[in-house]
Amino acid sequence: MVFEGLAEKLQNTFKKLKSKGKLTEKDVSDAMREVKLALLEADVNFKVVKDFVQKVKERAIGAEVLESLTPGQQIIKIVNEELTELMGQTQSKLTFASKPPTVIMLVGLQGAGKTTTCGKLAGLLKKQGKRPLLIAGDIYRPAAIKQLQVVGGQVEVPVFTMGDKVSPVDIAKAGLEHGVNHGNDVIIIDTAGRLHINEELMEELQNVKSTIKPHEILLVVDSMTGQDAVNVAEEFNGKLGIDGVILTKLDGDTRGGAALSVRSVTHKPIKFVGLGEKLEDLEPFYPDRMASRILG
Ligand code: GDP
Repeated sequence: MVFEGLAEKLQNTFKKLKSKGKLTEKDVSDAMREVKLALLEADVNFKVVKDFVQKVKERAIGAEVLESLTPGQQIIKIVNEELTELMGQTQSKLTFASKPPTVIMLVGLQGAGKTTTCGKLAGLLKKQGKRPLLIAGDIYRPAAIKQLQVVGGQVEVPVFTMGDKVSPVDIAKAGLEHGVNHGNDVIIIDTAGRLHINEELMEELQNVKSTIKPHEILLVVDSMTGQDAVNVAEEFNGKLGIDGVILTKLDGDTRGGAALSVRSVTHKPIKFVGLGEKLEDLEPFYPDRMASRILG
């Protein structure tokens, strides 16, 4: 499970601190060195780690903490607060259009879990009483269209397709019209993925964006790729502009570097996390719960 290694290391560090009772500045510095190493081993972005440790240290070394009756506890509380802050403080919700339909565009590289996540998100919104429509706009990956039809069928959400011979922009336009005519209040479009980021991909996504004017552009990235996921997020945000991130495969990521870095690097929140291959395995991302999971 995510943060396995990090949780174990941090909990050990703080156990030592708590057992000491009274703490000196050196105790805090030593502990912070361990925290820094643990975060780097979890593949957290270097600059993020540096800033984080600096912030915690500044707060922890104050007289208020060191002279309190339970300095160890106070430091754990500070780390908890700063970890929560790092991941975005509060849960970041989807923006719904004041006048439906709400248009959500899912973007990402091949294999990140975009198509699966389209189905998961449609299922989640359906459970909340929405009437979603899925649009099959990934015409490049063989079987992506069929796959979207299958996941759509499983969550009982209609899927609009035009095959793979029509341009993604035309598919998006026609799909949106179809949704409006059929009373769908949320329209989720699966877009073209590629193996790597390139000009062509970005241009195409920009064209789709300007055609359908989405309320949310969500980038799907694979948590297990760590800092690569963060770099992908930075590039998509710079070139296309994203509103949030969906971090998939958190169930297989024992380190958690992407979860801890992406918000800080891109200033865009993680809105959902994928926790398995099944269609119900998508959950809103709660920074405070994640922080508590790390600290035990
Ligand atoms: P796409 O190319 O981005 O559309 O990727 P897919 O939706 O086809 O997903 C690629 C693989 O990742 C599939 O085998 C999915 O079942 C798997 N996958 C997607 N999300 C998750 C997740 O949250 N956890 C796990 N374990 N697997 C996932």
